[in-house]
Amino acid sequence: MSETYAIVLAGGVGRRMRSAVPKQYLPLAGAPVIAWSLMAFQKSPEVDRIILVTAEADAVWVKSTIIDPMHITKLLAFAPAGAERADSVQNGLNAIEDDDGIVLIHDGARPAVTEEIIARCCADAKSYGACAAAMPVKDTIKVADPNGFVLSTPDRRTLWMMQTPQAFRLPLIREAYRKYGQMADRSGVTDDAMLVERFTDVKVRLTKGSYSNIKITTPEDLPQAEILVDRKMLS
Ligand code: C5P
Repeated sequence: MSETYAIVLAGGVGRRMRSAVPKQYLPLAGAPVIAWSLMAFQKSPEVDRIILVTAEADAVWVKSTIIDPMHITKLLAFAPAGAERADSVQNGLNAIEDDDGIVLIHDGARPAVTEEIIARCCADAKSYGACAAAMPVKDTIKVADPNGFVLSTPDRRTLWMMQTPQAFRLPLIREAYRKYGQMADRSGVTDDAMLVERFTDVKVRLTKGSYSNIKITTPEDLPQAEILVDRKMLS
């Protein structure tokens, strides 16, 4: 039987948050940030198993304060965080023994993800092999030089903001990560779709995300995220 897995990433140290506590553990509307996306995957009828990637030192605390009290019964395994996001994803993939099925990869720092977005990503991954939640950009985007001068203006109608979940057939994302692991320069990887674009022939489908599916990156993001998860609870 082919199953659907969700890898939830909570292995970052959150330098841009300027906080002693990594952003995924900060309190948000009564629960740690990471608890909100874990609950969304727990509730999703499409998802069978969850793999949570955390620093090894945090796993005991996360289990006793989030996993057990919030009844995250789908948790299959903790996987250790790596030095870069892509290393954390690789460790999450290594925790899955299956060689078939679908895997969703999600930034734990996006607490406002909904069951509807998860369902759309699962459906598109099954149809197309690779997909990523995304929304059209609203602002004009410029390409600039390192000195802060504009080089060019890409056509806004072709530009999308990438979000997570990003979802893939397991053999495909494993193959992309295997080839990535052989690269001498492994810097500059900011999402998983990039590796499928670069190392496979499969086209990544853009799946409708939401402008509410924000990533908490800097302290200014917290009040907005609080409003968004409150709204999600009420809907
Ligand atoms: O740093 P960034 O905002 O891109 O992180 C996105 C997600 O990846 C966060 O949920 C963070 O916890 C996770 N991450 C990770 N391991 C790392 C770096 C980031 O799991 N080494």
